Amino acid sequence: MHPDLNPTITSPLAPLDYQPRTRIVFGVNSIERVGELAKTLNAKRVLLVTDRGIVAAGHAARLQSLLVAAGMHVTCFEQVQENPSTQCVERCVQVARGATIDTIVGLGGGSSMDTAKGCNFILTNGGQMKDYLGIGRATRPMLPLLAIPTTGGTGSECQSFALITDEQTHQKMACGDPKAAARIALLDPTLTLSQPPRVTACTGIDALAHALETLVTKPRTPLSLIFSREAFRLAIAGLPRVLASPADLEARGWMLLGAAWAGTAIENSMLGAAHAAANPLTAHFGVTHGHAVGMMLPHVVRFNAREPAAARAYAELACTTQLAPPSEAPEAAAEHLAGRLESLLDLARLPRTLGHCGVKTKDISQLADEASRQWTAQFNPLTVAAVDFQDLYTAALSPDSSP
Ligand SMILES: [Zn+2]
Repeated sequence: MHPDLNPTITSPLAPLDYQPRTRIVFGVNSIERVGELAKTLNAKRVLLVTDRGIVAAGHAARLQSLLVAAGMHVTCFEQVQENPSTQCVERCVQVARGATIDTIVGLGGGSSMDTAKGCNFILTNGGQMKDYLGIGRATRPMLPLLAIPTTGGTGSECQSFALITDEQTHQKMACGDPKAAARIALLDPTLTLSQPPRVTACTGIDALAHALETLVTKPRTPLSLIFSREAFRLAIAGLPRVLASPADLEARGWMLLGAAWAGTAIENSMLGAAHAAANPLTAHFGVTHGHAVGMMLPHVVRFNAREPAAARAYAELACTTQLAPPSEAPEAAAEHLAGRLESLLDLARLPRTLGHCGVKTKDISQLADEASRQWTAQFNPLTVAAVDFQDLYTAALSPDSSP
């Protein structure tokens, strides 16, 4: 290993406070255990929160029959939308209120988990989503949540945050509370085989981005780094395989576990500038979250690599996953990493540039202004002001504008 790559990335005396809140159950066909697991939560009347795609794939009916066979009454809310809004959560709450439920099961991608958590806040604590903006603003107990992801993606099943978009302002609100975390995350890679190729691509790139952003954030801890590194190791190996061979169950398992570990890393160390830059692209240009993050991330890696500790962290990861030779200097190794991220977008058949998504030079100033006000921007290792986001967006706009 290069002498510069023997870093103490965070001080060994950096404080950490870790209380696992979510029981993680992983295994092929582990969905069959859902009745037994729901019983440990004393579930009798269950609200199943999902979307129509998951219903069409047959997962909702299978889950429902497993829960009914375990003696539970199940009410289904299947109207989850991508990037769920406050209105979507309200509709879910109405269904929950009518069914007098005692347990919530979220089935699907991050949007299903976010809606399930958002519903839980309002059902148990009243008010509106904006009342829970930030961390720990729910005062009353919440219902137990069982989270069953069908994408190898957001890792929301291991986080206590609900990301809900304000219907009026289009601002993504991060509403977190330790009580909102799932009591159980049930990870069955067979459920992820049904993902359409584009969903596999976007959610897989999102998971990689979660691993890389959490690796360098200001609040990172020795513990979050364990999860970031392992998440990256699994996802960088698994993503090309699931893109090439969607039925590769082993690689699907790596992606699902990698996403869960990356979600655990987020829970402990937040996110950074790529996510801050992605949110306005989703809000104004309808770019899918994982794609938006994936386009911005290589530029954010190059930007952050100006900070020596971040460059060393990227380089260590690039070397241990054979993306860069061990003798490479940290900045050069980080460049190898950024290059690999760009080639993965090509493999995923996702456009690399904002120009392909309808963004024009005249839009950059407003996008940069909004990105600098995103919550996650403050956790980036280097301070990112609006002017820095302008540079990042300009670099991502078209191949010719890259510095
Ligand atoms: Zn993300």
